[in-house]
Amino acid sequence: SQAPVITIDGPGGSGKGTICRLVANQLGWHLLDSGAIYRVLALAGMHHDVSESDEDSLVALATDLDVEFVVSDETGQTHVVLEGEDVTDTIRTEDVGTKASRIAALPRVREALLRRQRAFREFPGLIADGRDMGTVVFPSAEVKIFLTASAEERAKRRFLQLQEKNIDANMNSIIADINARDERDSNRSVAPMKAAEDALLLDSTGKPIEQVLSEVLEFAHEKL
Ligand code: C5P
Repeated sequence: SQAPVITIDGPGGSGKGTICRLVANQLGWHLLDSGAIYRVLALAGMHHDVSESDEDSLVALATDLDVEFVVSDETGQTHVVLEGEDVTDTIRTEDVGTKASRIAALPRVREALLRRQRAFREFPGLIADGRDMGTVVFPSAEVKIFLTASAEERAKRRFLQLQEKNIDANMNSIIADINARDERDSNRSVAPMKAAEDALLLDSTGKPIEQVLSEVLEFAHEKL
């Protein structure tokens, strides 16, 4: 039998990333940050001068993508390593996020990344963070959650995250970027961002992270 999976999908800034990390730590399960894979592919495309619309080259790049997720023994932090280079911070810029969302709309690029994502399903279990984890990548997941928050709150969180990483940030451009990205992610023809039919819908607006975490864990315990 296969390892159990908890999928948490939703838009950026909903608190997904933090919640997934905390749930994974709490349960001692593996973590898949699927957005990081799209971001790494976007960055690899930039490094190799591949155009955002050159689907054939992006598929080739996706198939051979040399990316590793390395958990640091000291800090417990996951480092993202592309072709031997630590790109943990580089992939978090708005520029890379926007490019990731553009190439993520290409059907054959998504297809090329499926197997790589499914390989994260290992015992004792997996927390899968993304847009289509419950609908496409792990439709048989035991626990599915769709986490949202108001656009304003998500923009504020993004702003703080970027500030923390000392990345230049501007509130108006973040709001514009979030809206554009939501629009593209929700309306693409393949694997659009949407809640699976059997997903629990959770709104994190105005809730402290501990509360969202306990709601997620309670739902997971009911289902597992
Ligand atoms: O979550 P994150 O902001 O890191 O994701 C970057 C982009 O990657 C998203 O805007 C989305 O277009 C794409 N993505 C996706 N499917 C996923 C995860 C991310 O299309 N499962």
